[in-house]
Amino acid sequence: MKALMYHYVRKFNSNFPFSKHKKIEDFVNEIKNLISLGYKFKNVTEAIKSLETEEDTQKIILLTFDDGLKDHFNVAKILNNLGIKKATYYIPTKPYLDNKILHVHKAHLILSKEGEKSLDLLFEACNNLGISLSDHSNYKVEKEKFKNAYSRWDTNSKIKEFKSLINYYGSIGVRDLLLDEIISQIGIKLKANDLYLSFNEIKEISEMGFEIGSHGVSHTLLARLDKNTQKEELYNSKKLLEELTSRNINSFCYPYGGKKSYNKYTLELFKEVDYHNAISVENKDINKETIKNNFFEIPRYDCNQIKDLFLKK
Ligand SMILES: [Zn+2]
Repeated sequence: MKALMYHYVRKFNSNFPFSKHKKIEDFVNEIKNLISLGYKFKNVTEAIKSLETEEDTQKIILLTFDDGLKDHFNVAKILNNLGIKKATYYIPTKPYLDNKILHVHKAHLILSKEGEKSLDLLFEACNNLGISLSDHSNYKVEKEKFKNAYSRWDTNSKIKEFKSLINYYGSIGVRDLLLDEIISQIGIKLKANDLYLSFNEIKEISEMGFEIGSHGVSHTLLARLDKNTQKEELYNSKKLLEELTSRNINSFCYPYGGKKSYNKYTLELFKEVDYHNAISVENKDINKETIKNNFFEIPRYDCNQIKDLFLKK
């Protein structure tokens, strides 16, 4: 079986000409195609369990939707109308605590509006505010460690550098100040409520039968955090989502994904905090051989690979 990762699924908006999203009509067509090819859909936790019992898992697809985006309420309704009640939605919980847009999505908004100009805007903001993204003790180590963070997906080096500075090696303490400065300068007016699912929408998605999973609290790269802070990310997000949905939250999704997005502490913590599985990003199918009974490093393809994986034969 194969897991697919989705983020933005929406219509084109001319205010954000560089937006990277799956168009709604393409999403619908691709899912309809998969249905007609005989694929079946499962949520992550069910699918992982079925590895132990079912002989043939070839035709199973795990649809996963990251970041708790408002788009995913529409997605849930579309899937529901197509008769699909199984998918997993991974929610980061910080926006529900402070009502603010997460740094990762502020960066997306800026990139969607300004494209490669975003990097110049970031350096300008550093100058204007007199702060530096490289002014922290791990800068050199992290820059080296995460130098290939975006090599696969992005071709533009300015966009890669912008995203790497914000998400992988720039100072965590100043990134929101800088992003807020750019956002006010380029006139983006969106608020957290516009971008993320409401509590009621998460509840409704859960009640439709879909799985809700945790995407941590603050969408910070876990590998950059000490063990205690990682535990807070894993535990606090799970607790809030369990209170909201009145269901156990069993599945975790690594912010950013990939082997370098977590470390041995993260893997140790899953048992302590009681997760059953965790999904990452890696170009591999899921079967007994590829995951070797390790339910905490489950591979997942990007939804832009869907044509190559399923529909081109
Ligand atoms: Zn994410």
